[in-house]
Formats: sequence, structure tokens, C-alpha cells
Amino acid sequence: MSIWYNHVRTRIRLRALTDNYALIRTRASNPAPVIKSDAYGHGIREVARAFFAAGARTMAAGTVGEAAVLKDTTPESEVLSLLGPIDAADYALVCEHDIIPFAGSTEQLLLLEEAAGKAGVPVRVALKFDTGMSRLGFSADEAGSVADTLDGLTHVRPVMACSHLATADDPAQDEYVQEQAQRFEGILHALHARGLGVQGSLANSGAIFGHPRTHHDLQRPGISLYGGNPFHGTSRAALGQGLRQGMDVVSRLVQVRTIPAGQSVSYGRTFTAEREMRIGIIAAGYADNYSRGLSSKAQMLVRGRRVDVLGRVCMQLTAVDLGPAPEAVVGDEVHMLGGQGANAISVEELAGWWGTISYEVFCLLGQNQREYVD
Ligand SMILES: *Cc1c(COP(=O)(O)O)cnc(C)c1O
Repeated sequence: MSIWYNHVRTRIRLRALTDNYALIRTRASNPAPVIKSDAYGHGIREVARAFFAAGARTMAAGTVGEAAVLKDTTPESEVLSLLGPIDAADYALVCEHDIIPFAGSTEQLLLLEEAAGKAGVPVRVALKFDTGMSRLGFSADEAGSVADTLDGLTHVRPVMACSHLATADDPAQDEYVQEQAQRFEGILHALHARGLGVQGSLANSGAIFGHPRTHHDLQRPGISLYGGNPFHGTSRAALGQGLRQGMDVVSRLVQVRTIPAGQSVSYGRTFTAEREMRIGIIAAGYADNYSRGLSSKAQMLVRGRRVDVLGRVCMQLTAVDLGPAPEAVVGDEVHMLGGQGANAISVEELAGWWGTISYEVFCLLGQNQREYVD
């Protein structure tokens, strides 16, 4: 929670998240909630406790440091670190907290062996393969040499093989999902043939809802748990029906004024009133991670009505047109995200105005002070 000095509040409904988890369990056999980046801005500890109470016994954090927090919060759950260890402190933490790190290089396996030897404990690893993201992981053709390396280690125990899909949420790129899925099946086959009894994990949210063949033993839902529809705006949008957003972002109306025709609003005078207008000033701006890119593009919710942002978003203030909400008064709560009823602002809609994706909106707005309701 880094933005403590402003008025914006991020309100989290954990119940929506656990309902999403229950929905995902009707589609996938063994989903491990992905709680990286402070649970996509929803709060790692609160979210982990909620999913644990809802039945999750394996969860995935991003960095090893985050995984240690997760393990500390729900000690009875298995905890994966999707990023894996990158410095000496990480290697020590993995052993100390019995974390299952993703490991995608020979160097990592050797350093894990060394750290586990020093700590006098076995360490379980999830072998990370690159099947098409060109990011972290062993190459798809390295399964044999990885098995050779593991043969020489005594403390490192491979329990899982993993990879990540690049296009699971895009129906126009199904073929690439199939390519990656086939490569992954080849890897699993090669590891099993070497006597390594690893589980397979490939599916993210898009694949959970759209590609059952990629489910294997463990699935890794992220955005769908937080109510983002991985297929928003595509021909498969209906697959995400029933997911509920668990984050609302609110602030306050701090001034109401009437401006005459011809009067400009905010820095740079990018908006000028064509007629007399009642405008509202909201205590929210780019210092709250409400992006300046939303200038003259976004809408907010005042008294349940949609109002347009006028001119430039400032550091801690934003102007809106109160025309649709004439009864609004100073002190009213204003929604930048979420809200009640048909006018509620979805994360995808806000992301569209912002020129980004739901993931980034959650991560950034989630850095405001959070409140937990229900
Ligand atoms: C973030 C992440 C996920 C979750 O992806 P979503 O699209 O949010 O469901 C799964 N696996 C890995 C490795 C990730 O980094």
C-alpha cells in the first residue's frame, strides 16, 4: 500500500473473489490462485486468507519475497514463486520457507542445490520451460539435459514442469496456443520418460476458460479471480460470464462550481465550455495512479450517473461535467472504477479509456489505501 497521502480509496470485496474462485473450480480441476503483485493490487495477505478459507491449498506468488509473505500468511498452503530466485537472499528464503520456486536455468538449479545443502533441507522446484514467450525458462529442447543435471543433484526435487502461454486470451491466435501446448506435451513426455514424476502446469485464465486441453495437473488463474474477463471484447466473451469484479475505486467531490460559456478547464486549456456548465472537482489524479492519459477520455460515477472527465487530469485533482448529476454536492462519493448497477464502470472499460489492459489498472489503482468490505 504505497499511496497513503491522498483521498482515493480502493474498496475490495473478497466475496467476489472467492465466488470467482468457485466458478473457476467448475471449469478446472486444480486451480492455484495467482497472487503475484500484491494479488493484482487486491492485497496479498487478505486475498490469500480468503482463498485458503475457500479451499485453495496451493497458491502462486511472483517474487520469492512475495512467496515468503504468502507462506507466512497461510503456512498450510503450498506456495509457488513464479519468478524464482534471483539473488542470495532469495535462495535462502526458498529453503527457509519451503517455497517451490520456478527454476528455468542450470545455474538456478545448482544454486538451489547449494543453498539446500547448506540449510540441510530438500528443496522442491517447478521446472520452467519456455515454449513460446521467449522470456524465462529452459528451452523446449533442453528437457533431456535438465534431467541429466537433476541426476547429479541430491537436494533438489523436481515436482512440476511449467510453461506460460502467450495468446490464450486471443481467439485469433488459437494456433499458437496449440503450438505451445504441443511443445509442452513433448517436454512432459521427455521428463516422464526419464523417470521424473513431475506434474504439468500450463494454463492461465484464458486457457482455463478457452483451452481445456492445456489444463494438465494444475492451473494458474490470475485475472479471472479478480473478475477480469480474459476474453473481453472477443468472440469468446461469453465464456467469462459470471465473473465479478472485486475492486471499486472511489474518492470525493471537493468543489462544485458553475462556469460560463467560453471558460476553459484545467492545465493547457484542452477543454473549453460551449455553454454555462456545472462542473465538479474530484480529489483524484495521476498521483493516485489515475493516469493523466485519462484526460478528456474517462468517465466517473456521481450519484450513480456517468459523468465525463473534462480537460487534463492533474496530480491530485480531476474535473468532471456534473450535467448528468445536477443534485451532486461537495462531499459526495465518486467512483472511478466499479459502482452499483448498470452504470458501474468495468475494469475493461476503464482500461480501454486508459489505453491499457485490466491487469495494469488493478495493479496501479490497487496501490491506493485499501478498505475491505463484506
Ligand atoms: C501472471 C501469471 C499467470 C496468471 O495469468 P492470468 O492471465 O492473469 O490468468 C499464470 N502463470 C504465470 C507464470 C504468470 O506469470
